[in-house]
Amino acid sequence: MNVGRVGQGFDLHRLVPDRPLLLGGIRIESPVGSDAHSDGDVLLHALIDALLGAAGLGDIGDHFPPTEEKYRNADSSELLKAVLPLLQAQHYRIVNIDSTVVLEKPKLYPYKAAIRQNLAQLLVLQVDQVSFKAKTAEGLGALGHQEAIAATVVVLLANFT
Ligand code: MG
Repeated sequence: MNVGRVGQGFDLHRLVPDRPLLLGGIRIESPVGSDAHSDGDVLLHALIDALLGAAGLGDIGDHFPPTEEKYRNADSSELLKAVLPLLQAQHYRIVNIDSTVVLEKPKLYPYKAAIRQNLAQLLVLQVDQVSFKAKTAEGLGALGHQEAIAATVVVLLANFT
């Protein structure tokens, strides 16, 4: 059945001192980083959830439980790489992904090209199949007060059987 399937993912983490800030596998220079059991890469976590959701394969917590010690400080790029074969096994390929990160500071503009490129590389896609956007929260709420970072991702899969 040659039909597209859409998936969406969302993730949010607290920002705390003395933690790295990673987005799409790219290290962001920041005085605060993502508080998480894994490396806290909200963009990759939302992407994984979007991919799993589109394929009807559950969510990131089902596949990589945060209660398991082996996922402490896990490299989210490796988690993503573990998900791709699950999609292939069900004969899905990725048509495109669109992503947004909400972060008050620092400005992500200098990192946009690198993040987009790295996402494409991790997903084995062309860069034009990948979109990355950065927003602020206009100083409002936990996101706006630099207490948290959030990401949303939408993905379209096509079945090639
Ligand atoms: Mg997460």
